[in-house]
Amino acid sequence: MKNLLAPRTLEFSVTVNDAGRSAAEHADIIAEPGFGKYFTDHMVDICWSERGGWHRPRVQPYGPIALDPAAAVLHYAQEIFEGLKAYRHQDGSIFTFRPEMNAERMKRSAARLALPELPTEYFVESLRQLIAVDARWVPSTPDTSLYLRPFMFAKEAFLGVRPAAKVNYYVIASPAGAYFAGGVEPVSIWISTDYARAGRGGTGAAKTGGNYASSLVAQQEAHSHGCAQVLFLDSETGEYLEELGGMNVVFVYKDGRVVTPESPSILEGITRDSLLRLAEDRGLKVEQRRVSIAEVREGVASGDIVEMFACGTAAVVAPIAQFIADGYTIGDAGAPAGELTMSLRQELTDIQYGRVADRHGWMTRLDG
Ligand SMILES: *Cc1c(COP(=O)(O)O)cnc(C)c1O
Repeated sequence: MKNLLAPRTLEFSVTVNDAGRSAAEHADIIAEPGFGKYFTDHMVDICWSERGGWHRPRVQPYGPIALDPAAAVLHYAQEIFEGLKAYRHQDGSIFTFRPEMNAERMKRSAARLALPELPTEYFVESLRQLIAVDARWVPSTPDTSLYLRPFMFAKEAFLGVRPAAKVNYYVIASPAGAYFAGGVEPVSIWISTDYARAGRGGTGAAKTGGNYASSLVAQQEAHSHGCAQVLFLDSETGEYLEELGGMNVVFVYKDGRVVTPESPSILEGITRDSLLRLAEDRGLKVEQRRVSIAEVREGVASGDIVEMFACGTAAVVAPIAQFIADGYTIGDAGAPAGELTMSLRQELTDIQYGRVADRHGWMTRLDG
């Protein structure tokens, strides 16, 4: 469903939260934010209706959303989201990373979920508006950030099955501590053979809650095997790699090739795209193609594959020490983080935190 009416105005009304956190509460939270636990004082809310298009852009106090019990999202899961971060630079300024990519991906997710497409300028402006009132929530200690969570869902109270005629878009934000507090630690990943996250023609390429809902039981299985996360294989043959529940996977070969799975049911990560770009800049050959689990087993055993990592906005890069499946393991629990893995991670975070030149024009200033 296209947004037929152009946005009427980019002017947000702003209601300041008089009951925001005190300076002392704020200081306590910022000192140890964790991830996704605490939220800032405000949120963005934009309405959409079939007849009126996008309207009533607002910044308002953070708080519960009143929903009719018949709201379509509660029954049919017509919902999408995004995730990106705001980074505090040395001089105090606040930047985000490639927000147009998130805006474009949200449009693709919207198209798949029969939700309205939010124009890119509205998406980026919504982040600016939130930062304008919540700038104090962007932490400044190393590797911390303010996690931004735009999302959109079907609000119409109607139990008939069709795309909702009333939808809301929101942005909330949550200060995030360093993902690897005690230094970057390679992780073990469980290979799920009983569950798939996406199938042909499904919603795998959309960032939608339903994909996460269906991954949770596999995630539980992973935990019960002592693994941090789960790797999903393609649902048709169970032979080809897809991705983790919320991160993409990448392999580094001995000859310098950097290889990542291609599949129509993968969620295309902006972190992955950026890391592959940085690898190409170094003259490395990047291959995006089908990758079978047999290739990974043989590659690791023969020493052809020398590094493995997962990537996504939250962790940036998580080195993978080993994969564990029912009946075999790939790699070894004690394997150290790869050299290229860590160097790409460093380069990307240096760009994000403004420590090196932004030669690709990836950073967008949000404050001022
Ligand atoms: C968000 C997400 C990713 C990572 O995307 P980034 O843009 O790098 O954060 C990977 N896989 C899934 C399923 C996701 O939802």
